[in-house]
Amino acid sequence: MTKQRRVILEELRKVDTHPTADRVYAMVRKRLPRISLGTVYRNLEVLSEAGEIQKLESAGTQKRFDGNAEPHLHIRCLVCGKVADAPPGVDLPDVPGCHESDFHITGVRVECVGYCPNCHN
Ligand SMILES: [Zn+2]
Ligand SMILES: [Zn+2]
Repeated sequence: MTKQRRVILEELRKVDTHPTADRVYAMVRKRLPRISLGTVYRNLEVLSEAGEIQKLESAGTQKRFDGNAEPHLHIRCLVCGKVADAPPGVDLPDVPGCHESDFHITGVRVECVGYCPNCHN
């Protein structure tokens, strides 16, 4: 693992804010001032393909990254895009039937959506 990749992983694992690539770039640049945004993007993709981190994709929103690679339930605000983890003990729901299609299923994506405390008035 390159030093850049290790720093990206360390910074991402320090937070539970599920940052976008731009935010990760800002965090990493404090330690590696010469790193480029492209390098951050590329390393985030490599880390998520290696299963070290999670990539959270949702139609119409920026990709976010999670230093916690364990599958867990996410909650997303429909207004500001904030992503939080579900409270401890809340497991991902089982989705019956999806393995019965002729697709080769590699995962199930489920997230709760709603309004965060700041956006709910
Ligand atoms: Zn919000
Ligand atoms: Zn998470």
